[in-house]
Amino acid sequence: MVTPRRVGAANVLIRDGRIVRVGKIGHRGETVSAQGLLVLPGAIDAHVHFDLPVAGSRSADDFATGTLAAAAGGVTTVVDFTIGSAEVRLPEQIERRLSQARDAAVDFALRAEMVGWTPDRVGELAGAAELGVRSFKFYLAYASSGRRTDLGTLRRAMAAIRDLGGTAMVHAEAEELLDPAGGPFPTARPALSEEVAIAEVGILARETSCPTYVAHISSARGVVALRAAQRAGAPLVGETCPHYLLLDETVYARLDGHRFSVTPPLRTAADREALWQALRERRFQAVATDHCPFTNAQKDAHRDDPAHLPSGLPGVETLLPLLYSEGGAAGLITLRDLAWYLGEGPARAFGLWPGKGGIRPGADADLVLLDPEAKWTVRARGLHTRTDFSPYEGMTLRGRVMGVLARGEWLVRDGELLAQPGRGRFIPWG
Ligand SMILES: [Zn+2]
Repeated sequence: MVTPRRVGAANVLIRDGRIVRVGKIGHRGETVSAQGLLVLPGAIDAHVHFDLPVAGSRSADDFATGTLAAAAGGVTTVVDFTIGSAEVRLPEQIERRLSQARDAAVDFALRAEMVGWTPDRVGELAGAAELGVRSFKFYLAYASSGRRTDLGTLRRAMAAIRDLGGTAMVHAEAEELLDPAGGPFPTARPALSEEVAIAEVGILARETSCPTYVAHISSARGVVALRAAQRAGAPLVGETCPHYLLLDETVYARLDGHRFSVTPPLRTAADREALWQALRERRFQAVATDHCPFTNAQKDAHRDDPAHLPSGLPGVETLLPLLYSEGGAAGLITLRDLAWYLGEGPARAFGLWPGKGGIRPGADADLVLLDPEAKWTVRARGLHTRTDFSPYEGMTLRGRVMGVLARGEWLVRDGELLAQPGRGRFIPWG
């Protein structure tokens, strides 16, 4: 059994979907042996985009396919987003998204996307909190599509979110340092932009005392800014993603390089090193995927048109396998780190703790059984996510998800996906 603090043999007693006891237990009821397997907390992917409208297109997974992919990969909780709007009030946005999420196969939380929001709508935040949504997402980039929030508006929102006991999540790229016409590539979206934006957000977090979570940190410069803000006392935490840890900008030179488009873009080998180092320091709060897949056809249609190339990669299904194989099994991080970044870390950041993210009495019985020695090769066609592209195509991974329990129910058993759409529940904050 793997937790953020220890690795060792243990028994787990589950009753009515919850963990009742961990440690020595008498032999009662059905017994499942996990001999030779690693038992981890069901993974939380705190950053996914299912069924997301993007510039006349849509991300390829809906809630059903996206959460089946999640279940197959050992992810038992996801956090998705509302569709922000200047015209629609936050509570209404949440109600709409909850109805779109009815097909979810795993439990989910929602975060309000603050697009088109203005400070005169501050009263809507309490309405969102009443519906169980206390995390709010802001973009410092994407001015041309109207998604950008200026620092003055962000400051006022952060003060209100602090009063609600919530978290502000920020997409940290400083707009003035980007060249949107250049597309989602490092030449147009330099790491400098990330460093500047994280520094600004860190100062606002310190000023407002608002717990703040920086999404998808991609660079060494981003880590420098995060570390500096934390040392200055800002309540600032950060996330990185598997694609920044495992891929770099050399893929853009390939014939199919445009299919790797993602924002922020992939960076250098030195940036990857810095991100792994920061993981070893427990500098980050979570590893999440920003899962936002497109099909090859969707990307190929804009191959020579970088300004309109859809940006996003699949990830939810390979999150745990990649982080185990290339991180835990490779010795770049510990197994305990794995349990922190995919369990307790994100659970604590988003009001899911202690019901989710840990193997402890009272928590939901969300567990992953991983065969640490089994090897398999990633093929897009063998995954459940609805795209024919995987950025990890052909990689041979060590460690295979053999069993997944969610609230005590088998979603995967003996390697077979049993999960059904519609069983997932909305998990309100707190
Ligand atoms: Zn995102």
